[in-house]
Amino acid sequence: MLLTLRHFVESYVDDVRYGFKKFSPAVNNFEARQGTQATGVFTVQYPDEKLAVPERFRFVPFLVVEDYDHPERPGKDWCTSCGICAKVCPPQCIWIVRNEDPATGRPIPEPEAFFIDIDICMNCGFCAEFCPFDAIKMDHDYELASFDRTTNHIFDKPKLSKEMRYWKTIAPTRVVEEMKVRGSWEHKDAAKAARRGGATRDAAREAATAPAPKAEVEAKEAKREEVRARKAAAEAPAAAPAPAPKVEAAPAAASGGAKPWEESHDDREKRKQAALARKAARASKRDEQ
Ligand code: SF4
Ligand code: SF4
Repeated sequence: MLLTLRHFVESYVDDVRYGFKKFSPAVNNFEARQGTQATGVFTVQYPDEKLAVPERFRFVPFLVVEDYDHPERPGKDWCTSCGICAKVCPPQCIWIVRNEDPATGRPIPEPEAFFIDIDICMNCGFCAEFCPFDAIKMDHDYELASFDRTTNHIFDKPKLSKEMRYWKTIAPTRVVEEMKVRGSWEHKDAAKAARRGGATRDAAREAATAPAPKAEVEAKEAKREEVRARKAAAEAPAAAPAPAPKVEAAPAAASGGAKPWEESHDDREKRKQAALARKAARASKRDEQ
């Protein structure tokens, strides 16, 4: 009883310490109140306040994808659809459909579809532990309750996919440990290709499906002709200046404002397309030189 009474009194002492603004949103003292120095009765005003979860906290998994404004591989899946996570998952709540090349029918190392039934998932973290590509991680988002079990709780690929920068934010220590083991901030494949100075599996696939060398040369020559014609038109005094190629700028979310992982799927897709357009513009500039 004495201990309870002490906590009760200390709560008021704490109130005085914060000038009776303990729960005011204007005073950001939440971490101090939840720290080891705080005294009194602890009441978290959920959902207005939420306890910070430790870095190793784990809830349902998510899939790591490249940042949507990555200069080379925007939005690219880190998952290679190897299926190891689905195999080790104790309650078997992961389903993966491997992508395949429509022309050759050969498998492509990326998932076409990826589902996790989050009601069956027991948050054991085996999938993240066993993934050889650091492509699946345990999330910190635990507010997943909804009234519709049938569709809302079967997470598909767009819902599961989150940018690498999100993982860096929620697990800053682990991300560095993983990077050291991997030897690079990049995906294993991309890092290996960079070390060899060769092509990634994607680039190799693109090269395999590229047009025959003769057609490629003709296409490049036609492009050069087009550029020369555009330059000539721009230099002609009477001619109207050729419009500059329009490259869509990345939305504000990429540089500030809303956090990138809080964007809607459409906004992320826009950022990805803008990054791809920038990449294509860089490639075409290289071709012109
Ligand atoms: S998440 Fe990892 S373990 Fe699972 S299929 Fe993708 S690469 Fe394999
Ligand atoms: S956390 Fe465990 S139960 Fe959930 S998907 Fe991963 S392996 Fe399966």
